[in-house]
Amino acid sequence: MNIFDEAKRQLEKTIKVYPIDAESTLRLQAPIAALQVALPVRMDDGSLRIFQGYRVRYNDLLGPTKGGIRFHPGVNLDEVQSLAFWMTFKCAVVGLPYGGGKGGVTVNPKELSLLEIERLSRSYMSAIADFIGPTVDIPAPDVYTNSMIMGWMMDEYSKIQRAYTPSIITGKPIAMGGSLGRDDATGRGGFYVLQGIKDRLGLGSKPLKIAIQGFGNAGFHFARLAAEAGHLVVAVSDSKGAIHKEDGLDPVSVNHVKQEQKELKAAYCKGSVCQVLEHHKITNEELLELEVDVLVPAALEGVLTKANAAKVKAKCVLELANGPTTNEADEILEKRGINVVPDILANSGGVTVSYFEWVQNRAGYYWELDRVHERLQKRIVAAAKSVMDLKEKHGTSIRTAAYVSALQRLNEAVAAKGTLTYYLNRR
Ligand code: NAD
Repeated sequence: MNIFDEAKRQLEKTIKVYPIDAESTLRLQAPIAALQVALPVRMDDGSLRIFQGYRVRYNDLLGPTKGGIRFHPGVNLDEVQSLAFWMTFKCAVVGLPYGGGKGGVTVNPKELSLLEIERLSRSYMSAIADFIGPTVDIPAPDVYTNSMIMGWMMDEYSKIQRAYTPSIITGKPIAMGGSLGRDDATGRGGFYVLQGIKDRLGLGSKPLKIAIQGFGNAGFHFARLAAEAGHLVVAVSDSKGAIHKEDGLDPVSVNHVKQEQKELKAAYCKGSVCQVLEHHKITNEELLELEVDVLVPAALEGVLTKANAAKVKAKCVLELANGPTTNEADEILEKRGINVVPDILANSGGVTVSYFEWVQNRAGYYWELDRVHERLQKRIVAAAKSVMDLKEKHGTSIRTAAYVSALQRLNEAVAAKGTLTYYLNRR
């Protein structure tokens, strides 16, 4: 089964608990538009390479579509449309006036020079420029894309339009119309969700033991904030492997060393002058099976599967990555009483602050950092609490409750447009 069919199974599951108008189901079955592009890029050695790119606008019932751009060798249409599907529900669960979209390029950016990445980014924007727009579809960063890449893309779009257009893309550098607080918004949002509902997750008020798979934008900032709040981040990992320290790592020092040495190593002490030591190395697979309170997948999709779900010893899984748990794994975890805070809620901080950035770009008026944090916290914690209320009301998993919450909003938009029932009653 491909990822897209897997993703849609969650919708079928939710409809059994919360039946919606047949027209809503119909409208959510397939993307409204999908674009595949060939991207010619001149390499530094003078040769020409053609990369495959995609942009999918899944659904715009609640507003223009919104979603990141991924640069990764595994990118394909199936993945991009699944990610766009999830974005539709993510934006709805936090009540953003957006539909869902996503984009990507099949490339290993680590093999490219910075100038080649710039040419690829500009080539991608040039290829999708007619398909997107500030009130049509607004991209953002995702795996292996960052604020610099968003800046190049905004610059390219502005050249094409002959008008400075910062609201075309979010996650930009501050100097190019970015928002304060966008850099750590995904990790911060996940942290606010955890703090906001940890009692209702049965995690109590003691410091939590946390293991995090993926130490990029989402994983690092979550780790940093969790450690600052007094929790113990006992393990972190990246694509090369994992490190484990039972009495807690200092994520800031680990990140510092990673940036310098391109390798995850634990720092010996907290503070500025730290001696760097090789720490206990484990595999990414072992990290997923550690005895912790909270396991945070923050890398790629499909890492918790039927092969390892029975071995997860965490009390709770907080999905910062998109789609890290397969349906089969989800069912195993649910039967074992392990709460899974789903991606569409747990990682919605990124798109929420992207929304704030877009609002600021359109208003031409920029907010202070405190305002961004305060508004993010208020919105995401309220969404998390109402999902927990729905979980208790319907007796479902948190994931199904989050989908119910999103479906309520999507269904209302379908009804407002007029359904068969409406027209029959008007005759
Ligand atoms: P990133 O590129 O900054 O970091 C990805 C991290 O995952 C890197 O540390 C990388 O080494 C690690 N990684 C890659 N393959 C791995 C593997 N096989 N095992 C362990 N680690 C591996 O990306 P990011 O923006 O942090 O995105 C991570 C996840 O969070 C993705 O699923 C993304 O869709 C999701 N997400 C990101 C944002 C955002 O704003 N950045 C928002 C919502 C969701």
